[in-house]
Amino acid sequence: MTNKRHIAILGSTGSIGRQALDVVRQHKDMFEVELLTANNSSEKLIGQALEFNPGAVVICNGEKYQEVADVLQPQGIKVFAGMDSVCSLVEAEGIDIVLTALVGFSGLRPTVAAIKAGKIIALANKETLVAGGSVVMRLAEKYNAPILPVDSEHSAIFQCLLAAGDNDFTKIHLTASGGPFRTWEKSRIAEATRKEALQHPQWTMGAKITIDSATMMNKGFEMIEACWLFHTGPEKINIVIHPQSIIHSMVEFADGAVLAQLGHPDMREPIQFALSIPQRLSLDNRKLDFAELGSLTFEKPDIDRFPCLGLAFDAMRKGGNIPCAMNAANEAAVAAFLEDRIRFYDIPDIISKCTAETGFIAEPTLEDIIATNDEAFIRAKERCGIAIR
Ligand code: MG
Repeated sequence: MTNKRHIAILGSTGSIGRQALDVVRQHKDMFEVELLTANNSSEKLIGQALEFNPGAVVICNGEKYQEVADVLQPQGIKVFAGMDSVCSLVEAEGIDIVLTALVGFSGLRPTVAAIKAGKIIALANKETLVAGGSVVMRLAEKYNAPILPVDSEHSAIFQCLLAAGDNDFTKIHLTASGGPFRTWEKSRIAEATRKEALQHPQWTMGAKITIDSATMMNKGFEMIEACWLFHTGPEKINIVIHPQSIIHSMVEFADGAVLAQLGHPDMREPIQFALSIPQRLSLDNRKLDFAELGSLTFEKPDIDRFPCLGLAFDAMRKGGNIPCAMNAANEAAVAAFLEDRIRFYDIPDIISKCTAETGFIAEPTLEDIIATNDEAFIRAKERCGIAIR
């Protein structure tokens, strides 16, 4: 690679954002940071900007603007506030790749803005495709904006498909760690606390996605994300529990051959591959020692103990704006669970009721998606208020 790749990182102070900057730190000759954005973490954003010297930063929380501007503006770094600034700055000509690592539905608008500007999208915000998959994929095609997966499973599938050339796959085996409650009885899961749900056995991630992993909604989201990214339907996606999280996912072909991508769980690997495609760069991660691993195990998922997974398949089969409503209800319910306001199984309960109440729109526009999200979010919030523990 001769030309440097110029990168915008949306959500740079979160788990994915920080790991992306670690990748940049190891390959400063290949990558240049143009834009960093953070929601609220002003101190972390300032530290990152001083180290990577981007042209601009955005702090979404306007109350923190002055604090950030006071330090960075004297250094020649432009400072902006608010999500509207994120949406307009991602269009800047100097940016090649936009890594979207925002949490939840908030990732949709800036991703759409970057797509319309024809940027390469490194997508780490799965809710964007869950809520607005049909709209986002249509726009990506229209504006010629490639969408590269950052999620470890989708990066694995993508890498397997690259290796398969023009051959169509017959099935995707999407692996799941099973989360912290994989071996728990249903009655024990019902009483699970926030602290217990936040203890993920394999991956260190943000709070929202860690709860999504405990309910297995995260795997449901990933199934939907895979449908959009790889132009397929839920019937071709098989969820397989693989507690060691070494196989990041697999793809099966007509002759029964299965290709897999493996590695220790470390998000920097899929992040780096999305940024450096088609090149593979060095990375200071732990390499696999198969003799030390000994064995890899697999199980069937249990929809009875993890109903969110079933809800996601139902929503995707219904299609239209239903996955969007499901995502919004989940976002509200997970926030309530993180505040100890509802119980673990209230999450699927609230989602199921909210999606059932949603007026069906078969081919939603972006406006329909935003309206569905807002309505379902409010209804779910109301239900969280009723379901006080
Ligand atoms: Mg994942």
